[in-house]
Amino acid sequence: MIFQHRMLTLASKPSNTTSYTTSWLAQLFANHTDYLAFNAHNDRIVLQGEKHIPYLSIVSDIRVEQGVFWNSLAVHLVDGQKILLGGISKKHAKTLQASLNQAIQYHIVAFYQRLTSDIEQAYLHAQSIFQAKRYIRYPVAQQWLKTHQHLAQGLKRQGAANYVEPSALTMLQAIQPMLNHGYAYIEQWNEAYVQQQLTEFQTFFDQVESNPLTDKQRRACVIDEQHNLVLAGAGTGKTSTMIGRAGYLLQSEIAHPQEILMLAFARKAADEMEERIQTKLGVNVLTVKTFHSLGKHIISQVEGVVPAISKMAEDEHLRARFVDAQIQQLLNDEQYKSRLVTYFLRFSYPYKSAFGFKSLGEYNQYILDNELRTLQGELVKSYEECEIANFLYRQGVRYQYEANYQINTSGPDYKAYQPDFFLPDYGIYIEHFAVNEHNQTPPFIDQKSYLEGMTWKRSLHEKHQTQLIETYSYQKHQGILTQSLSEQLQQAGVSFKPLANNELLKQLNQLGQVSAFAQLLAQVLALFKSAYLNIKDMVTLAGQHEDKERMQAAAFLFEPILELYQQQLRDTQTIDFEDMIGLAIRYVESGQYQSPYRYLLVDEFQDISASRARLVEALLNQQADNSLFCVGDDWQSIYRFTGSDVTITKEFTKHFGYTATSILDKTFRFNNKIGEFSSKFVMRNRTQIEKQMHSQHQVGQPAISLIKTNQDSVGLNAALSAIHVKSQNKTVSVLILARNSFKRPDLTAYKNQYPNLQLQFMTVHASKGKEADYVIILGLDKGKHGFPSEKVTPPLLDLLLPKAEAFAYAEERRLFYVAVTRARHHVYLISDAAKASDFIRELIHDEYEMHRDEFHGTGFQDKIADKPCSQCQTGFMLTKDNQYGSFFACNQYPLCAHTEPACQWCGGELKEQGRLKVCTSKRCDYIEPICPACGGSMRLRKGPYGEFWACSNYRKGSEISCEHKEKQIDLSAHL
Ligand SMILES: [Zn+2]
Ligand SMILES: [Zn+2]
Ligand SMILES: [Zn+2]
Repeated sequence: MIFQHRMLTLASKPSNTTSYTTSWLAQLFANHTDYLAFNAHNDRIVLQGEKHIPYLSIVSDIRVEQGVFWNSLAVHLVDGQKILLGGISKKHAKTLQASLNQAIQYHIVAFYQRLTSDIEQAYLHAQSIFQAKRYIRYPVAQQWLKTHQHLAQGLKRQGAANYVEPSALTMLQAIQPMLNHGYAYIEQWNEAYVQQQLTEFQTFFDQVESNPLTDKQRRACVIDEQHNLVLAGAGTGKTSTMIGRAGYLLQSEIAHPQEILMLAFARKAADEMEERIQTKLGVNVLTVKTFHSLGKHIISQVEGVVPAISKMAEDEHLRARFVDAQIQQLLNDEQYKSRLVTYFLRFSYPYKSAFGFKSLGEYNQYILDNELRTLQGELVKSYEECEIANFLYRQGVRYQYEANYQINTSGPDYKAYQPDFFLPDYGIYIEHFAVNEHNQTPPFIDQKSYLEGMTWKRSLHEKHQTQLIETYSYQKHQGILTQSLSEQLQQAGVSFKPLANNELLKQLNQLGQVSAFAQLLAQVLALFKSAYLNIKDMVTLAGQHEDKERMQAAAFLFEPILELYQQQLRDTQTIDFEDMIGLAIRYVESGQYQSPYRYLLVDEFQDISASRARLVEALLNQQADNSLFCVGDDWQSIYRFTGSDVTITKEFTKHFGYTATSILDKTFRFNNKIGEFSSKFVMRNRTQIEKQMHSQHQVGQPAISLIKTNQDSVGLNAALSAIHVKSQNKTVSVLILARNSFKRPDLTAYKNQYPNLQLQFMTVHASKGKEADYVIILGLDKGKHGFPSEKVTPPLLDLLLPKAEAFAYAEERRLFYVAVTRARHHVYLISDAAKASDFIRELIHDEYEMHRDEFHGTGFQDKIADKPCSQCQTGFMLTKDNQYGSFFACNQYPLCAHTEPACQWCGGELKEQGRLKVCTSKRCDYIEPICPACGGSMRLRKGPYGEFWACSNYRKGSEISCEHKEKQIDLSAHL
C-alpha cells in the first residue's frame, strides 16, 4: 500500500497522459481482454467503449498480473469489482503500472487537501441552518445538499478520514449524517422539531379554539415549509386550523402580527375570521382581508386615494343591461348591424354534420346541447333543417314545420306522416334527406329502412299528386344547399320577398335572441377581465378553437362592447372588481407596492383563480423569507364558472414548488355512512386527491334514502315526515337543496305542519360552508336543468374559463359531494324515476349503501327506468298507454321516437320466443303472436263466424293497413 501515509507529500504533477492500445498481434488473440485500449485523464481512466473509472473509485494501487504471452493490469474498485486491462506487452506493463499509480496517488492526495476547506464551509453553512432552531425548509436543505453533497462521494472511500486534516475531522463528523442520509436526515430533524414544538405549545393548541385542536391540525400549524397545503375535508375544522396557525406563528414569535396576512374569499368569512382572531388570540393588528379588499388596499396605497367601485361591479344585472344597451346603440352602425345579423344567421349554432356522429345518442346530445331554434321560433332536429327554415324565413316564404300531411296515415306502429316543411301559399312540401352522394345515411341510421321510407314518401306524393321538393345532406357538404333549394323553389313558381336586416333584427329581438346574446357578452366581459387578458389574446384564443370562424365572429362583436365598457369606467372614474385584482397585480409585480407580509394564509384555496394565485405569488416574491399556507379541499371546488381553477390545488407543487401537504380527514360533522358514501362517490374521479375521511360519529344503518317520485311535494312530504319521526319532537335543522333555484318549494305549509323542523331552502352552491342535521336534495333528474346539470358551457365562455377537466361532470360530481356532506345524520335524495339522473343510476348500479325502497305507494314510483333504448342507446324505455294499448317509448322523445310493444295486461317487457311474444313479468302470463306479414301483434277478434286472429295493424280504409288473418295459432309453442 503506497497511500498509507496521510501526509504524503505530493510528487510533481504527472504531465503526460498515459494511454495504451493493444497491439495488432495481441488483438489476434483478443479473447484475453475486454478492453483493447484505455486513456488516463486527470481524474479518471477512460476505457475504450466510453466506460470510465474515476480515480476516487479505485481502492488500492494497480497491480500487474502475469500471463503467458501478455500481462494484465488489475484495477480494484471500492465496490469490490476488479477490472482487468489485458493484452499488455510484458515490456510495457511495469512502466504503465507506475505512471497510472502515480496519477491516481496525486489525484487522491490533492482531492483530500482541497476537501479541508470545503468541509469547513459545509460545516459553517450547516451551523447557520441548525442554529436558527426553526423548521428547516426544503429549499434551504436542498441548497446545502446541492452545495456540499459532493463531499459524500469522496468521503465514502475506505480510510478517507486518514487523508483529512485533523482540524477538519470534528467538523466532518458534525456534517456526516447529512452527507450520509441527505434530505432524509433533515426530515428526521424536522420531525423532532415538530414534536418538540407540539409539546411546548400544547396548552395553546388545547385552548385556542372551543375544542382542542386535533393532532393533525396541530401538526399542520407547526410545519413551516415555504409552501404549505392543508387539504381539509368537509367538517374537519379548517377555520380552526387557520386560527391555530396564525396564533402559533405569534406565540412562537416566528412572525410579528404585521407580517401576517390572512385571505378569505367572502366578506362574511373574513369578518368571522377577524373576530375569532381578536377574541381567541387577543390580537387586532393582524390583517384579515378578502381578495377584493386586499386589491383595494394595494391600489389606495399606491395611488394615494381609495378607488371608487363601479355600480356595475356590484350588480351583475346592471352590467348585463349596460351591455344590452350598448349593443342596441351599436346597431345604428351599419357594419356592426350586418356583422351581428351574420353572426345570428351563420354562427348561432355550431355546425356538425350528422355523418360525423357514431350513434344516435351522440347526435341527439349535440341537438340537445344546442337547442336549434329557427328564426320563426321552432325547435328543429338538425342544423340543416334550421338552415332551410331560416332561408325560407329570410326570403319571406311562409312555411310550416312538420305539419301533418294532408292525408292521414297514422296507425299503432306508424305515426302520421309529417313532411319536414309545407309551404301553405303554394301547396309545396319540402323533404330534407340525410343521405350523401352515394345514397348512404349517417352511420347511426338504419340505411335500408330510411331508403324505404324515402321511396314510400315519394310514391305517396305521387299517388296524391302533391308537389315535393327534395334536398340532401350532401348539398350542405358541398355548400350548395340553399342555392339548390332556391333554384327549385323558383322553378316551382315561389316568389321571394327578402326581409331587410332591420326586420330580421326585429324578429331576433322578439325571440329574445339579441338579449340572450347580450347576456352572453356580459358574462364574456366578466371572465375576459378576470382572466387578465387583452383583446389580442382573446382573438388568438378564438383562432385556436376548433370552431374558430364562429369564435372570431363573436370576438369581433365583443371588442367594441369592451371598449365602451372601459370608457364608461374611465368616464365615471371607477374600477370594477376585476380591475382591482388586475391593478393590484401590476403594482405588486412592478414594486410600486411594498408588501410587509411574510406569512400568507389563504382560506378556501380550492376556489382560487389564476389571477388571484398570481397576486399571491407576487406578494410572496417580495420577501425572501416568506411562507404560504393554504387551506382548501379539492373535493369541494365548485366555482369554475367564475374562473376558479381547481388544478392549482390539485397540482399545487407544480405551481408553487416543493410543498408540505397536510391532510385533515377527521370530520366532526357527518357520520361514517355519509362519509363512506360521499367519499366513494367523489373519488370516482381518480384525479381528485385521495384521502380517507374518518367520522367522529359512527352509525350502523345507511344514512342515505332514495325517494322515487315525479312530484316534488310527494318527495318533500315523505322526507319531512320521516325526519319528523327521527327528530322525536326535538328541534332539528333541515336544509332543502337543489341544483337550480327554480326548484325552490313553498315551505310555509311544511313549516306549519312541522314546527320543530327548521326548514331552509338554498341552492347547492349557496350551501357551501353550511351544515344541518338533515339534508333533502331535490331534482336529481336527467337533463339541462337536472343534477348533474347537462347544460353545456357556451364555447365562447369556455374559451376564457380554466381548462375543463377531462372527467365528465367533474365539477357537478363535487357539487353533489358538497350537497351530501352538509348533513350530519341523514340525506334524502328525490328523483323522478322516469328520468333519473346519471348520478342516481350510478348509485343504484354500483350498489352504494342507500335505502332504495323505503318509500312506496301512491305518488311513488316502483323502479328507476333501466331498460335501455335499443335505438339511441342513451335513452331509457318508459311504459306508456294510448288508445291502442300499452307500449314502451324512449324517454329521449321527440329526439328518439323509438317504441316497443309492451304487455297489454301489466305493461311489462315482452320477450320473443319463436313466433310468440311472452311477458317477462313473473306474475303475468300474457302471450301475443307476432304477425308474419308485418311484424306487428296478432289480436284475437270475434267475427260473425267465430273467433279469429287479426293483425293489430289492420285499419279499415286506411292508407296503411295489414290485412293478415289466421284462424288458429298454437299459443303453447313457447312452453
Ligand atoms: Zn331512444
Ligand atoms: Zn304482463
Ligand atoms: Zn300484420
